[in-house]
Formats: sequence, structure tokens, C-alpha cells
Amino acid sequence: MADGGRTIGVVGSGIAGLRAAKALLTCGVDAEVVIFGDEAHRTYNRPGLTKRPYPPPGAPGTAMAEDLEVAGLDDDALTWRLGTGVDTADLRDKVLHLSTGETFDYDGLVIASGVRARTSTGGSGGSHPRRTLRGLDDAQHIHDELRASGKVTIAGAGFVACELASLAGKYGCEVVMLESPRRGPFRGLLGKRISIALRRWFARHGVTFLPGDPEPSPDRSLFVEAIGSVPNTEWLRGNGLDLSDGVRVDARMRVPGHEDVFAAGDVARYPDPWAAGRLTRIELWKNAIDTGDLAGRSLAASLGRGAGKPRLGYFPNTTSEVFGLRIQVAGNPKASDAAEVVRGDPDHPDRGVLVRFLRGGVAVGVAYLDEGARFNSTYIELLRSLKADPAGAVAAG
Ligand SMILES: Cc1cc2nc3c(=O)[nH]c(=O)nc-3n(C[C@H](O)[C@H](O)[C@H](O)COP(=O)(O)OP(=O)(O)OC[C@H]3O[C@@H](n4cnc5c(N)ncnc54)[C@H](O)[C@@H]3O)c2cc1C
Repeated sequence: MADGGRTIGVVGSGIAGLRAAKALLTCGVDAEVVIFGDEAHRTYNRPGLTKRPYPPPGAPGTAMAEDLEVAGLDDDALTWRLGTGVDTADLRDKVLHLSTGETFDYDGLVIASGVRARTSTGGSGGSHPRRTLRGLDDAQHIHDELRASGKVTIAGAGFVACELASLAGKYGCEVVMLESPRRGPFRGLLGKRISIALRRWFARHGVTFLPGDPEPSPDRSLFVEAIGSVPNTEWLRGNGLDLSDGVRVDARMRVPGHEDVFAAGDVARYPDPWAAGRLTRIELWKNAIDTGDLAGRSLAASLGRGAGKPRLGYFPNTTSEVFGLRIQVAGNPKASDAAEVVRGDPDHPDRGVLVRFLRGGVAVGVAYLDEGARFNSTYIELLRSLKADPAGAVAAG
């Protein structure tokens, strides 16, 4: 135990948990920081799981994901409890009950347990093996199967489904995407018009769209469900928290009613800095980094460490590539009530299209699709305008 005698528990060994741990140590908190992860792996690059094909196991350069290093973090300062789930938490007595049967007393807690893949069968699987893709072990199975099988059927239309379709194409697979009404590629994020154009783009690259529910095809080929996610909050039940969609926190990532408990990453639902009075939960890598940092700094501040009032340097953004088309998204388009095309033709995203997303007439997000980089400078200008806190609604406290 550290000299200060304090113990901090971080539940979740993903990027949000790691960044929170780093922020705590950077702020000079004198404590033992213990990271619990139910996966067997240390923090790895989760977005990298769907970005490119990998050589077969045994070939050189086969590592699908390396342990992530965080600059400035002395790893020896952390205690890793991998392959150890937290089954339940008693926030009043500040104790975690572990899958090993042990208990763990903490002085401060960071909830960074992320989300898991949603399944249409509630996890029962049915008679046909349905795969989902969330973690490194899932990815290893799916890459192996894509390499070996000639066909994949994918249920879903979001980032993971679309990247998986593109990845399967690179492995040379026949790709079938199951479509439910009003759920074309990226429609939930980028809207109907762009989704229709993307559907054409996918079809041009050999994807077959079939109507239907998430049911495996009768030929028993590889079937992957990528139909959304479920926040990992069951272990927090019984503590009177608002767990209606992830863990409700305030603008500093603090769990209301618990001075020493913070949440971050995919699991945290916090006041939306772009839209006063609205809560948001964002499943993006950059959001996990930023909210992880904030949760760690806020916990440090509650322990009397760190300077200033921590708040979110909020600017989630991501880049994806599907069948050679780069899709960049920044801000929070899902919070918008209108969209305007700034450059290009939304019916031809491969020739470049820039869309600004508005809420109450104020920009809250930007998307840029292109095969090249035609409108890059305009995109960067739009990003700058987003950074300038356009809504004037950055949540204070
Ligand atoms: C295939 C894929 C591709 C993606 N691509 C992109 C992308 O291109 N760009 C982008 O911005 N985002 C992408 N994302 C999303 C991004 O990876 C997440 O936003 C990010 O990883 C969230 O980090 P986190 O630390 O909050 O949660 P996670 O990374 O999910 O980490 C949480 C960890 O906690 C563990 N855990 C859960 N419950 C418990 C418990 N009770 N006890 C102990 N451990 C527990 C989980 O097993 C997990 O290891 C992608 C996600 C996936 C799955």
C-alpha cells in the first residue's frame, strides 16, 4: 500500500480506466491504484480490431493488439488484476466483491466498465453460432473465420458492422448485410440521405443487402451480430444509482450522492456540453480518453490533489474507412436537430461531402466523407469552430 494509505479501485481495464489511473498519478495522488479487468488482456487498441486484416497465427507480425503505453505513466505504479471481474459493489461500505471470492476495500472508485455487444437472443445463441465483436478474443475468432470462410452475414448498420463488412471484403469474403427498415449504413449517425449513398457505395463494392431480422443464413456460414451495445452496469445494482442508460454522472464525472465515485468512457452518461439540459453517452475512443482523464482529475481534486477545476476538453472525433472511403466525424451529430451540406454532393460521398450538424441553429457536429482529401482545409476550419464551444453551454458543475 502507498504511503498515503489510500486505495483506489478502477473497474475496467480499457482506455477510460487506464487514462483515469494515469490522471490520478499525474495529479500526485499518493495511493495504490488497482485496475480490475475481466478480460485477460491489459489495455489494447480496441478500434484497431476491425481496421485491417491480420496474417494467420504463427506468421511474423501477428499481434492483433499490443498493450497500450500511455506517455508519462510509470506502469509499475499500477496494480493490474486481470481476468478478475467485479461481481458487485457496495458503495456505502466502499467494498467491491470480486469474481475470485475476495473483497476489495477502496477509498476512491472509478467506474470504467464500458459496454458489451447487444445480442438479439439475449446471449442464448440459438442453434447457429452467432458471433459478436467487442473484445480482442472475439476479434481473434472472427479474423480467423474470415480468413477461412468464403462468406459472412452481418446484422447491423453502425460503425462496427460497416467496418466489419469492409474488413471481410479485404479478406476476400462474400458479404451479406441484413437490413431492417430505416437502418441503412451509418443512418443513426449521419442521417438518411448519406446512408442511402453509403448503401450504394457498399453495393458497388460487392455487398449484398437483404431485408430481414438478425437471423443467420441457412447455409451456416459465419454470422456476426453488430446490433449495438449494452452498458456493463449490472455489478452496480442495489446502490440506488441511475443506471437507466449507463451510469449517470455530473459534469465532472462524479456519481451523484457519492463524493468518491466517478465514471468514465462508454459507460458514463453525462451532461452534454453541446446541448444544455441534455444528457449524453458516447461510445468513441476519444470520448473515453477525455472522460477518463476528467474522472481521474476530479477524483484527485476530491482527495485534495491537482490544480484548478477540472472540466471536459470536449471534442470527440473519429475516423473510419469503409471500402476505401474515409469517414471522419467530430462533435456529437446524434445531438443535432438539423443538418446542412457545406461542400460536395451527399449522393456522391466518394467525391467528397462535408456536412455540418446543427442544434438550435448552432453547430454540434461535422462529418467529412471522401475517397481523397478534397475539402480537408474546410473540414479543419469547421473543427476549429466546433472547438470554440459553440453552444456556449459547456456544463459547469
Ligand atoms: C470493433 C470496434 C471498433 C471500434 N472502432 C472505433 C473507432 O474507429 N473509433 C472510435 O472512436 N471508437 C471505436 N470503437 C469504440 C471504442 O473502442 C470505445 O469507445 C472505447 O474502447 C471505450 O473505452 P472504455 O474504456 O470506456 O470501455 P471498454 O474499452 O469497453 O473497456 C471496459 C473494460 O471493462 C471490462 N469490464 C466490464 N465489466 C467489468 C467488471 N464488472 N469487472 C471487471 N471488468 C469489467 C470490460 O470487459 C472491458 O475490458 C470501436 C469499438 C469496437 C468494439
